[in-house]
Amino acid sequence: MSNVMKMVDEHTCTGCGRCIIVCPHGNLSIKQGDFGFPVPNIENSELCAGCSRCIKACPFSDEFEEDE
Ligand code: SF4
Ligand code: SF4
Repeated sequence: MSNVMKMVDEHTCTGCGRCIIVCPHGNLSIKQGDFGFPVPNIENSELCAGCSRCIKACPFSDEFEEDE
């Protein structure tokens, strides 16, 4: 299953929240990673539909689409 957590790690995530806004299930949040930087977090993996909207919304993803 493909979602932003597998595309962006804590070395690139800025905690901008774009991925959180587009998730149709409201299933993403930002947590503090091991090194103190923000990382995306899936609240309930069973609710993730793998729609990739979060990936397309992330400016640091290779699949970023400006108008998502
Ligand atoms: S892949 Fe879709 S359902 Fe899963 S976290 Fe991303 S936006 Fe939400
Ligand atoms: S859109 Fe990308 S940079 Fe922004 S919070 Fe989500 S994972 Fe982090």
